Amino acid sequence: MNGQRALVTGGAGFLGSHLCDRLLAEGVEVVCMDNLITGSISNIEHLFGHEGFVFVKHDVTNFIHVAGRLDAILHLASPASPIDYLKLPIQTLKVGSLGTHKALGLAKSKGAKFFLASTSEVYGDPLVHPQTEDYWGNVNPVGPRGVYDEAKRFGEAITMAYHRHHGVDTRIVRIFNTYGPRMRAGDGRVVPAFINQALLGEPLTVFGDGSQTRSFCFVDDLIEGFWQLLNSEISEPMNIGNPAEMTVLQFAEAIRDIIGSKSEVTFTELPEDDPKVRQPDITVAKRELGWEPRVLLKDGLAKTIEYFAERLEKK
Ligand code: NAD
Ligand code: UDP
Repeated sequence: MNGQRALVTGGAGFLGSHLCDRLLAEGVEVVCMDNLITGSISNIEHLFGHEGFVFVKHDVTNFIHVAGRLDAILHLASPASPIDYLKLPIQTLKVGSLGTHKALGLAKSKGAKFFLASTSEVYGDPLVHPQTEDYWGNVNPVGPRGVYDEAKRFGEAITMAYHRHHGVDTRIVRIFNTYGPRMRAGDGRVVPAFINQALLGEPLTVFGDGSQTRSFCFVDDLIEGFWQLLNSEISEPMNIGNPAEMTVLQFAEAIRDIIGSKSEVTFTELPEDDPKVRQPDITVAKRELGWEPRVLLKDGLAKTIEYFAERLEKK
């Protein structure tokens, strides 16, 4: 893709900003588009002045205009943390539906490859474990999380329709819980929540009894998977995540140990429809891309903790 030009929607967010870094490092020019609803300029300010980078502030639920050629559109725009999408239910539904439609229309008119950031949430509270791509999921469409899950499921459906009906060259990545530097400290997701609580010596807020499981992937591994999927020929959805599964309580204890914090663990109510288990089956990614995660949890967490500790010191 060296010498090519890509649009990244949601480029000022956690994952989008790391993706912009990677594309630029691969010699791809980047148009980063974001309305900053949950993202931040601070995630991309190191890229201002890079000759291959431009930032456009725009809400992608409205018509998207980008002058000139585009070889790829990577559509990441969407609130992603449960707290964010519960606060922004209509925006979440709109960006997953209208925003994906606009981004696909642009891909069709430019002859660009289209890459959709989907999610493990399309499996809902899964009855198949670990989750394989051929599982259709167990989603409550009218529950509070439905605004995100159904928006993403619609996003996948319209992406496949543009692929089949209009011949757009598409990719769909189902992202499992990913963590790393540039997550927002207050976004409510478990990684920034526990790290900041442990650093401040505050109680670690485990929801429910902490027996629900998640599988955490470091951002560098995820972005490597994105890059390989983008450069593949695979239009079917693909899981990218780290299969190392643990309970939320084990995760709280791991963070407390790494930081050496004396924080206690408190138990509060489990949010409605919180999935009880989550673990990616990555057989397809291994077979088709030769991809698998490489970063150990303790190493990824060390980098993430350093990031949050530096920000707390500056306060
Ligand atoms: P994030 O909130 O940091 O980034 C999302 C970005 O999209 C933000 O910069 C936000 O301002 C922007 N955005 C939202 N609505 C927009 C709109 N209408 N127009 C333009 N920009 C808009 O979240 P993230 O963790 O970086 O997630 C990025 C993508 O990956 C999302 O689509 C999310 O659903 C998906 N995803 C992330 C994870 C994860 O663990 N991080 C897991 C599954 C899926
Ligand atoms: N969680 C928790 N305490 C927190 C934040 C989250 O126990 O302060 C739990 C949450 O209920 C879920 C898991 O951690 O079971 C992961 O939550 P997150 O918001 O990171 O993402 P999800 O995987 O639910 O989309």
